[in-house]
Amino acid sequence: MNSVELIQSLQTLKTEGNPVTTVYLDVSTSQQLRSAEIVVNNLFKQKKEKTFYKNLSDEEKRSVDKDVEGIIKFLNNQLGGARQSFMIISSARVYVWQVVHIGFPVENMMVIQDRPYLRPFLEGMSQERNYAIVLVDQGKGKILVNHLGHKEELLDVINLIPDDTTDGGFGGMDERKNERRREEAVSKHYKNIAGQLEQLDATYRFDWIILGGLRESMSDFESFLRPDIKHKIFRKLSIDPNLSIDKVFQLIDKEIPECRHMFEGDLLNMLANEFHKNYKGVSGIRHVEEALQQGQVDTLMIQDSFQTKGRVCKWCLHTTTDSDDLCSECGHPMERTLDITDELIHIALDTSARIEFVSTEMGTFSPISAILRYRR
Ligand SMILES: [Zn+2]
Repeated sequence: MNSVELIQSLQTLKTEGNPVTTVYLDVSTSQQLRSAEIVVNNLFKQKKEKTFYKNLSDEEKRSVDKDVEGIIKFLNNQLGGARQSFMIISSARVYVWQVVHIGFPVENMMVIQDRPYLRPFLEGMSQERNYAIVLVDQGKGKILVNHLGHKEELLDVINLIPDDTTDGGFGGMDERKNERRREEAVSKHYKNIAGQLEQLDATYRFDWIILGGLRESMSDFESFLRPDIKHKIFRKLSIDPNLSIDKVFQLIDKEIPECRHMFEGDLLNMLANEFHKNYKGVSGIRHVEEALQQGQVDTLMIQDSFQTKGRVCKWCLHTTTDSDDLCSECGHPMERTLDITDELIHIALDTSARIEFVSTEMGTFSPISAILRYRR
């Protein structure tokens, strides 16, 4: 399952208003895993003091108790080994149970509300991004990916270059023939890697691709790539395809901030274009909310770490930073929310919009903007 499908499946978990317990836990060391039970119990103790929990019916409280029991049981059953973080979503009353292994660090937290709490996951995904590293030379091909923060090798092929046939001959005939056979074998090899890369891109939808190898091999290989894939190559580095996966990720690590910057630059350019030239953009909480409500949003863009308190109507999902007691749209009472953007994210997910947290300064489009599906 790729990250887009995963997010969609998390969003469509049906909990029908029942309380959902979401836990994020850093378990990257065995010490952290051992103390996970204590951490979860402490987080739960704090949550019991919160209004949301206090206002639950006895039956709903029992459901949350079961969530926490289940989470602790799950954690105690984990053996040591390489892992980074967990996101666990549970709603015992409606039999919802989901564990996602996350390859990047998270802040320990527990949220009990009427739906999964996905913001830290989405924000982490925006920071971490999905990308591929392709390493090629005439005799070797490798594809490594970074997906949900997990670093994996998905392709490792060796090209057997045909031996020279040296059964005599004059005038360099055999030499030319050998040369041609070698070239054909190398072309076939590059074509194969290019095809595999296209397939992986269809599954993972890479944000960018880093190409590595010998200079000459890289440009030969590039001629076999489809234009849209070629367009995703942000960096070309001379890296030995025989290096270990850890070493390769170490080498490219310093390139990542600049790649992310380029990727976000493209997003912001697209937003500015759609906004100014095509009237397919909106900016500001109010306008974005309106567009979300009408299912018009294609991509929701939020300045990294922006959040703001406000009120939300649980009937029509209207949000406001004002302290209105009654909804200006439908007249129902408004409820306080710690984070309006979380409400907006929720509507975005419900209407299959893409969500991007942007670390680059968004300028006039800060803190929240959207690219629309249609012209206004
Ligand atoms: Zn309302």
